[in-house]
Amino acid sequence: MIKVKDLHKSFGKLQVLKGIHAEVKEKEVVCVIGPSGSGKSTFLRCLNLLEEVTSGEVIIDGESLTNPKIDINKLRSQVGMVFQHFNLFPHKTVLENVTMGPIRVKETPKQDADELALQLLEKVGLSDKANVYPASLSGGQKQRVAIARALAMNPKVMLFDEPTSALDPELVGDVLEVMKELAKEGMTMVVVTHEMGFAREMGDRVIFMDQGIIMEEGDPSVIFDNPQNPRTQEFLNKVL
Ligand code: ADP
Ligand code: MG
Repeated sequence: MIKVKDLHKSFGKLQVLKGIHAEVKEKEVVCVIGPSGSGKSTFLRCLNLLEEVTSGEVIIDGESLTNPKIDINKLRSQVGMVFQHFNLFPHKTVLENVTMGPIRVKETPKQDADELALQLLEKVGLSDKANVYPASLSGGQKQRVAIARALAMNPKVMLFDEPTSALDPELVGDVLEVMKELAKEGMTMVVVTHEMGFAREMGDRVIFMDQGIIMEEGDPSVIFDNPQNPRTQEFLNKVL
């Protein structure tokens, strides 16, 4: 589903990604862990062209993102993204936040978009919040709306960038539950997270990123219980 070959990304003179090679298979859940500033967000953002890659190649479902003819709107609808800070539209209701993408980008008739949105809100446990504004929701509820909004585009892949990092601890569980459900349904997912429990339980594979490269990757049991790279060990000693 995703193939990344020798991906480099610089901001001016700052080299952030220094040759990333990675593959994500259909239905796979890959968790990305690593210290702050190691390039995890930049890596995710290169997967849906929120950042232009400096060199190397990213291929999603057979389509190369470096192809100048790529349809960015189509790509973004196929690659859903959930951010740390929700990014909901404050002046739109929950329902409107979820229907906006399908109506504007996919030209879905409003009635169909509403129906789909209500189904998705039910899935994330928020069917009673369809007509409220984001300001009246808790962080965990906002994040679940953001997940429903991404799913409304019927993506092939979902990217999560620390989806629970901005939440109060007691709100983290509900969001992780929704993500677990998605994973069980076979959604292909790349999840940057500090939730080591989630990575261990749901990750088919864990990638440890440090200083713009993948230092180590493997089965969660190996990464967490028997990491081979001293940098991985050092990082896990700090966070576990
Ligand atoms: P992580 O998500 O692992 O914390 P990031 O990908 O956010 O790491 O950032 C990696 C490095 O790239 C940091 O040094 C950050 O300051 C830098 N960086 C990220 N985005 C930009 C940008 N738009 N312009 C300049 N530097 C950036
Ligand atoms: Mg980040």
